[in-house]
Amino acid sequence: MFTPPHVFDQPSPAFDIHQIDTPAFVVDLELLRKNLERLALVEREAGVKVLLALKGFSMFSTFGLAREYLSGCCASGLNEALLAYREFGKEVHVYAPAFKPKEMQQILPIANHISFNSLAQWRKFRPIIEAVRAAGQHAPSPGIRVNPEHSEVEVSLYDPCSPGCRLGIRSDSLSGQDLSGIEGLHFHALCEQGSDVLERVVGAVEKRFPKLIEQVDWVNMGGGHHISRSDYDLERLIHLLKAFKARWGKEQIYLEPGEAVGLNTGYLIAEVLDIVPTHPPTAILDLSASAHMPDTMEMPYRPHIIGGGMPGEFPHEYTMGGMTCLAGDVLDGFSFPQPLQVGQRLVFADMAHYTMVKTTTFNGVHHPDIAIYDPAKKEYRVVRRFRYEDFRDKLS
Ligand SMILES: *Cc1c(COP(=O)(O)O)cnc(C)c1O
Repeated sequence: MFTPPHVFDQPSPAFDIHQIDTPAFVVDLELLRKNLERLALVEREAGVKVLLALKGFSMFSTFGLAREYLSGCCASGLNEALLAYREFGKEVHVYAPAFKPKEMQQILPIANHISFNSLAQWRKFRPIIEAVRAAGQHAPSPGIRVNPEHSEVEVSLYDPCSPGCRLGIRSDSLSGQDLSGIEGLHFHALCEQGSDVLERVVGAVEKRFPKLIEQVDWVNMGGGHHISRSDYDLERLIHLLKAFKARWGKEQIYLEPGEAVGLNTGYLIAEVLDIVPTHPPTAILDLSASAHMPDTMEMPYRPHIIGGGMPGEFPHEYTMGGMTCLAGDVLDGFSFPQPLQVGQRLVFADMAHYTMVKTTTFNGVHHPDIAIYDPAKKEYRVVRRFRYEDFRDKLS
């Protein structure tokens, strides 16, 4: 199984993993600050705005810090828009494959930008936006999401430009259409990628949508920029953004990364509850791969356990087993220098983004604590502990 190289970059926890309750998602504020500083550097140097994509990282107890660096949030619909507005409190940008009129009533007063996924959706909501504006009230600046039809994303589950993909309007559906009133252009075509790929996607957008670029006030280049990875070419990104702004005379450019905010800032800490004598043996953990790290199965990828290695790297090989009854709730291919012991703690690296936002309570499995470690104060703080009532209240 493929292990993304960046997950080896995260340092060991700076707190005592034996002093905490498990399971726990823990975000280290200094690691988060490092990513935010890098993103703020892009804002400053390139003269663009960077938004936090809530769908990847919504741990609002850290928003006090994130707000110091980023310009706002992008939301995938009403609930995330409300979270952005109430908990983050700067710019709110919303995109969804479709909106319902009832949701729109709540989105209109709080969103700065709204991107529509089709001309039909734009036409449906245009009169409402224009009426609100005519009445002198706040309404978001409307844009459309286009499909650049250029993607270098290999996993089709995560490829917004795969053939037949429903996300974004293709250039052939725009020709001859009335595009008056559209103030922004949004595209999102990257996933964990570098500025070299963005350069080619921007090229595709410029080739397919020149008139629209000329028309609009703002351009949103989506997420998927792996900006906080150590080998990301930041200079190239800054240069490309500045060149784009100059070429088209545009001032308002947005990036909306999710993963790059949370990358290598969070741990998921587990305890070994039992060791089942399979071949290789399975360590049963007090968490679940499918319920707490679903991307390890969806993507799929092999996460990194700090101190552990690839199969064959160390003498003692194990499979990690989850707490659900799903037979496939396992992670293969781990080795350790010493045999694992019941009661031992294990630390999964890079578990801040696309984890907490995706968890389930399938099997009534216990949801990990959500905790913050603040190295400045040497303080470990559980911000949320889940109880039976949380499990019950999602059901009825
Ligand atoms: C998923 C998504 C993002 C964030 O992507 P990351 O890979 O987490 O950076 C931003 N914008 C849109 C429209 C998205 O769908």
